[in-house]
Amino acid sequence: MLPLIDRHGRIATDLRVSLTDRCNLRCTYCMPPEGLEWMPDSQQLSDDEVVRLIGVAVRHLGVNEVRFTGGEPLVRRGLVDIVRRVRALDEDVEMSITTNALGLSRTAGALAEAGLDRVNVSLDTVRRDSFTTITRRDRLADVIAGLAAAEAAGLGPVKVNAVLLRGVNDDQAPELLGWCLERGYQLRFIEQMPLDAQHGWDRDLMVTADEIFASLATAYRLTPASEPRGSAPAELFTVDDGPATVGVIASVTRPFCGDCDRVRLTADGQVRNCLFAREESDLRAALRGGADDADLAARWRTAMWGKAPGHGIDDPSFLQPDRPMSAIGG
Ligand code: SAM
Repeated sequence: MLPLIDRHGRIATDLRVSLTDRCNLRCTYCMPPEGLEWMPDSQQLSDDEVVRLIGVAVRHLGVNEVRFTGGEPLVRRGLVDIVRRVRALDEDVEMSITTNALGLSRTAGALAEAGLDRVNVSLDTVRRDSFTTITRRDRLADVIAGLAAAEAAGLGPVKVNAVLLRGVNDDQAPELLGWCLERGYQLRFIEQMPLDAQHGWDRDLMVTADEIFASLATAYRLTPASEPRGSAPAELFTVDDGPATVGVIASVTRPFCGDCDRVRLTADGQVRNCLFAREESDLRAALRGGADDADLAARWRTAMWGKAPGHGIDDPSFLQPDRPMSAIGG
């Protein structure tokens, strides 16, 4: 098996698969209130095609972790079946979803039974008014129910991802951490990145990892966790005397590109070697044109080889990718 290695020596083993660009929330930092022009069904990979490409990644390219994302992966009708088929391909591959948890209270059991290992739930606040302001939907109670259902179904450890927005929820970091600690959820804060469809990101306005840390330190004693970080994006801190931890993903102010082990497949079958890549490789066309698995694997390796050393957000020549986060898969 030849792995997905790039010219800088990094090996990608963690595959993020976007199953749709559609979402049932409208988070202000992600998309406009009216949503976006969604991808036509004919462009989207079918369930068979998704499973086939994941099979190539797992069997030919050394991928050992698959994370379904979107858009919102729970709105993909075939999700449970896709999970079941990927589990049948390989019983050891670590499989998770990143989700807003709307509807998870109904599907958590079926997902666990199909072979899903874990969930990452995005939740930026536990205040109903802030939630409604950020997501433009009054659905906090559904998210909380989804989290509880995931935990009950054995899809743990449940991780919670949060983005802080200046003047909206940037004063709520300790409160959100306290809420997660009470329930045994692992919280990680993510710096806001220039990936919104409206191109409204502003470096001077984003809440930095240092600010997040300072805010948490007003209520908790944080010490750098002893476990090695490896390729994990989050810097982990032990909270008070532990064992609970909190993570901060400083994608902008402390990039970790040198340790990146991720590769992305969009819902329309394009390989992206980086969230911020400006080029993609069209596996869907090859697949629909009759390419066999070895050919698809070779194309995938070529796509990875050219991965840039870093995302270059701080470079004056930085250009935001054409696709927003929701169409890449976060
Ligand atoms: N709908 C799913 C969810 O909510 O988790 C999966 C897709 S969503 C794009 C994945 C993650 O990206 C969420 O945690 C969301 O908060 C985060 N996200 C979206 N836009 C972002 C941005 N501009 N900067 C940082 N994180 C962002």
